[in-house]
Amino acid sequence: MLRAKYINKVTEVNKIYLEDIVKEGDVVVDATMGNGYDTVYLAKKVGSQGKVYAFDVQEEALKSTSKKITKEQLENVELILDGHENMDKYVKEQVSCIVFNLGYLPRAKHQIITKSDTTLPAIKKGLDLLKPNGIMSIAIYSGHEGGMEEKEAVYEFTKNLDQNYFNVMCTKFINQVNNPPELLLIEKKG
Ligand code: SAH
Repeated sequence: MLRAKYINKVTEVNKIYLEDIVKEGDVVVDATMGNGYDTVYLAKKVGSQGKVYAFDVQEEALKSTSKKITKEQLENVELILDGHENMDKYVKEQVSCIVFNLGYLPRAKHQIITKSDTTLPAIKKGLDLLKPNGIMSIAIYSGHEGGMEEKEAVYEFTKNLDQNYFNVMCTKFINQVNNPPELLLIEKKG
């Protein structure tokens, strides 16, 4: 089997973009912690002077992420068992980056998926919380039931964001079959 090294997963491509954007000391949000890979990535990047707020609605996600951050001895992460649509209740400062990884938690119950009626309010609140020149990234998966509806709602909202205030960019695989994931990046203009 041939294996891609650099651009096989949108979550990896996202790191290429975020490499120079997320800096030591930054406060950032992982809006969908899932198994915690992005949480750990962000926590290492922002370092001990920074902070990661990570959200998920499933206990399993918090357990899985908690194990990883303990193993990595990261103390700059707050794990929050609540929906990202409530992020403004917990995050009181402006942040430089917010990461969404939509869909379902791999290997867990596939019924628990992100849905547009909470994803969109979360994106709106997140955009309010972003600092000037802050970045929101959204990995979108449309292959599962409900995924296409969410993807369309996210596009409908983000493509109408005023270009005087936001840059919205899409990265997608154009030669893959079966609804490949896509990555949206939104920059709040300074
Ligand atoms: N599809 C990705 C993983 C997405 S994980 C992949 O294949 O790599 C998405 C996570 O979002 C899940 O852990 C799920 O529990 C969580 N989630 C669902 N609704 C949420 C909400 N309202 N707020 C925060 N997290 C939510």
